Amino acid sequence: MILPPRPQGHRRPDSPRRSIDPLGAIGAVPPRDYPHLDRFAVPPWDHQSPEWRAIDDDLPVDHPARTIDEAVDRLDLTSLFASYLGVGSRAHRPDLMLKIVLYEMQTGRHSPDHWASDVRDRRCLQWLGWGITPSRTRCYGFRERLGPLLETWNRQVLGSAVVQGITTARRGSLDGSTIAANATRHRLVNLSRLRRRSEELDRVIAVDKTGQDPGAIPGWMARRPATRRRQHYRFCEAQRELLKEHARNARRPRDQRQDPEKIVISTSDPRAALGRDKEKVFRPLYTLEVIQDTESPLVLAYEVFAQATDAGTLMPMRRRAHDLTGIWLKEILADTGYASALDLFDCARAGVDLYAPYQENDWTEPRRAQRRPRQIPKSEFTWRPDEQAYVCPQGHRLTRISQETRGLTEGRTVEVTTYRFPKEHCRECPLARRCTSSANGRTIQRNEHEDLIAAHRAKMQTPEAKAIYRKRCQTVELRFADAKEHRGLRRFRGRGLEHARIEVGLCVLGHNLLVVQAAGRRKAAEGQNGTSCQVAA
Ligand code: SF4
Repeated sequence: MILPPRPQGHRRPDSPRRSIDPLGAIGAVPPRDYPHLDRFAVPPWDHQSPEWRAIDDDLPVDHPARTIDEAVDRLDLTSLFASYLGVGSRAHRPDLMLKIVLYEMQTGRHSPDHWASDVRDRRCLQWLGWGITPSRTRCYGFRERLGPLLETWNRQVLGSAVVQGITTARRGSLDGSTIAANATRHRLVNLSRLRRRSEELDRVIAVDKTGQDPGAIPGWMARRPATRRRQHYRFCEAQRELLKEHARNARRPRDQRQDPEKIVISTSDPRAALGRDKEKVFRPLYTLEVIQDTESPLVLAYEVFAQATDAGTLMPMRRRAHDLTGIWLKEILADTGYASALDLFDCARAGVDLYAPYQENDWTEPRRAQRRPRQIPKSEFTWRPDEQAYVCPQGHRLTRISQETRGLTEGRTVEVTTYRFPKEHCRECPLARRCTSSANGRTIQRNEHEDLIAAHRAKMQTPEAKAIYRKRCQTVELRFADAKEHRGLRRFRGRGLEHARIEVGLCVLGHNLLVVQAAGRRKAAEGQNGTSCQVAA
């Protein structure tokens, strides 16, 4: 935000540092072991500098920069300070850099390029950073440094929220969304083309090493020798990923195999999955999964997956929430994509109450109701557990004809049993035209977790479950809308899975810091009001 010039006769606002009780914020100040700050470059300003005070006068009391400033001051940054060896030219103070970065992420400025240019003309950043102006290279370097530390800080903030009673961290709402990778969708290559290009690139890199001019180079090749070397690493990674995908493809049943020539990859970001985004555009992307607390706006867990769907992420996300909060989720709200038979089994085993429609959603249900069923649905057949058999609407018993083990993702399997009605009954049955078109009689398949599915479906029909499930669209859906619309998370700015994780980690850290700080202020204000009421009484 670029602040307007201060009008004539503008009243100096009260300093927020005096009006806000710091102990009402994130919690007690953590123990710190910062090395001497003189290892770092001295910032051009301090709290007494006229330039800093001039901006401080103009900055509104409730400006988010002030909240971030206070919240970061209360984080334990020992590991960040310790990550500097203190050799070479002096680095900018990392606490000031972190404040700048968190503020930028909250305003949708995700690229270190933006940070380096914004510190020169955004006054609130100059206020946060005491006038430091880190270069583009330093901003990129700082982003790399933050990567391994974000987990620790997110744990600190969520731990503090639990201690302060903002959340119990036991109920969460899970959802995922695809985010475009920082990679072009116009240069997808298959293995044979990638090999040809790698050979050509190797030839030009060999010429670079001799110091000679490589001559005319193709349009896909990087222009400069240093960039060509980076391109070479990406090509090697792309080849490895493509070979893995070819091996996966070869393991599929013959009728499900893809034509190897059509297996492609993005050379700009080989780790990104290829799939259709919300606008149905086929592109390199990642899936961002988030668990939002249902008792507060806190984000309890986040993860970026190099896949194009939400499949198989329910239990990994529950483990992520446990990693960050130290508490196991007991209630999860999710959409239909997370409620497979295996997910229901996992939830039952872990004692998790899952609220998610089974194989239906707001769109499919009315459409299904309008459509005439192609055959009498399975729900009209009665399962007899004592006989381990189905009974059809005409009262005939089905017999078990086969059992197979179906392979699912991550090496997991599920047993499926097939039951068939004697064809003599079906041929003469008055319902035969509605029930089956097969001359061998109607068949029904039963998953080994069918009891769980039936119990889950019955649970989701109860008014209590419907009331609980309604909270999903009021929580995690809003978080994604906010992330995409206000935090600029429609496309990652960093290239690769690790950079995507850093971006999301920073967004979540900034968001949770603001939530905890706001809750602390509310509590402090309620405490003050309570005290003044008691005094008045
Ligand atoms: S067609 Fe066969 S399975 Fe279907 S209702 Fe008639 S007898 Fe039962």
